[in-house]
Amino acid sequence: MSTQTIFTAETSGSDVVASLLGAGFQGAVHRPGDAEYDVLRQSVVPTFDSRPLVVAEACSRSDVQRAVRAARQLGLPLAVQATGHGTRVPADGGILLKTSAMTAVLVDPQRKIAKVGPGTRWGAVIDAAGQFGLAPLAGSSRDVGVTGYTLGGGVGWLARKYGFAADSVIRAEVVTADGRVVTASADEHPELFWAIRGGSGNFGIVTSLEFRLYSVPQVHSGIVYFGVDNAAETLKFYRDWSATIPNELSTAIVLTRTPEGTRALAIKASYSGEAELAEHLLKPLFEEAGPVLAGELKTTPYGESAMGGTPARYLDLLDTLPDDLLDALAELPSATVEIRHWGGAMAHPGPGAGPVGHREATYSLIIDQEVPDLEPVLRNTGRTFLNFLADPSRAASAYCEADLTRLRAVKRAYDPDNFFHLNHNLEP
Ligand SMILES: Cc1cc2nc3c(=O)[nH]c(=O)nc-3n(C[C@H](O)[C@H](O)[C@H](O)COP(=O)(O)OP(=O)(O)OC[C@H]3O[C@@H](n4cnc5c(N)ncnc54)[C@H](O)[C@@H]3O)c2cc1C
Repeated sequence: MSTQTIFTAETSGSDVVASLLGAGFQGAVHRPGDAEYDVLRQSVVPTFDSRPLVVAEACSRSDVQRAVRAARQLGLPLAVQATGHGTRVPADGGILLKTSAMTAVLVDPQRKIAKVGPGTRWGAVIDAAGQFGLAPLAGSSRDVGVTGYTLGGGVGWLARKYGFAADSVIRAEVVTADGRVVTASADEHPELFWAIRGGSGNFGIVTSLEFRLYSVPQVHSGIVYFGVDNAAETLKFYRDWSATIPNELSTAIVLTRTPEGTRALAIKASYSGEAELAEHLLKPLFEEAGPVLAGELKTTPYGESAMGGTPARYLDLLDTLPDDLLDALAELPSATVEIRHWGGAMAHPGPGAGPVGHREATYSLIIDQEVPDLEPVLRNTGRTFLNFLADPSRAASAYCEADLTRLRAVKRAYDPDNFFHLNHNLEP
């Protein structure tokens, strides 16, 4: 059952500031009218105009605890935000707790482990780890927050080889709904540890995260654009070809436009190995696609590989790509359509892995606009991936039934009042 907070109209921004300062909150607190308030309350993908009573910038784990306790005392909702890349629910009338100042990054090159603060962005980890020839399981953007990305699963260009980012988490420090600090690991609070590795911000506020790094000094990667004349046949070829490639090779095939604006079929590829082998593996696919319009693959340090992503208005996870679907997608005149190849380590996590849902899917299908005409051929499996899910009311669709039941049990144990509900919410 969802528990709504007891926000009363009498509670003012001044009350919240007084309460936070009284509790010893050390970061800056901004109210409507302050210049910083309007900057910090934004999300990256703005679909609403969030109007919190205050924006509070935490500088420490203790600040996070103070904010949680103050919100509970005042009966106010609280939302946590690092970068705003995944904020889908406004914090109206509540406290928007920013972690963006908590950006510590520690890399242990011997143990191949990174430990980060909750405001850290991927770029900082990529740079710090890259000095040792190591790579984190980051995604398509250096600006995305490590913690939000990882708690929501985290699928990047090394995922077929090393799994979801959530699968590489070793330990987290978590401020729970009652303001306690706990360590979640395989040995301590193991159910909480399981739940946060895919269950996102439903169980507490993570104030530090430790995860594995991998020896990937360089990759051969990039985007190559082809004409669309043979798009339908190339999509079908891609389906069959992708079933034969090794886990070191991650690819997506995208109906899009070249940087100059020509409608094109793009192949995105990232290979964590030798360039010659990558070119050899990709040759049949490129031959099927036809003459190259633009783009190339290059060997670069892992951190310099830039692949971009596609905003998801339509999202599905598929086991197969039927001919009629591919024919219809190829005919779309303007939508960006991205079919990404999953599988490999994503489908075979180690024992005790978290609730990242629908690992068995072979492809993700993302379309950047509504496509009602395609309804008859879309499979609409109902399966989604939390990090790509624009509609937070569908959060449950990111999990299989058994994991959902277990997630709700953990929620009842750690947040029975659903205090953390301004997110992709799973009710207790
Ligand atoms: C341009 C872009 C590219 C992307 N690329 C990828 C990609 O390649 N792969 C992928 O998997 N996803 C990708 N995403 C999705 C992204 O991983 C999610 O939106 C993620 O939630 C962003 O986290 P954030 O901290 O940056 O965002 P925020 O908006 O700051 O946070 C989003 C949510 O994460 C949770 N959260 C954040 N910090 C904490 C914390 N300390 N404790 C508990 N919960 C917390 C909260 O529920 C919060 O509402 C992309 C998104 C964008 C906009």
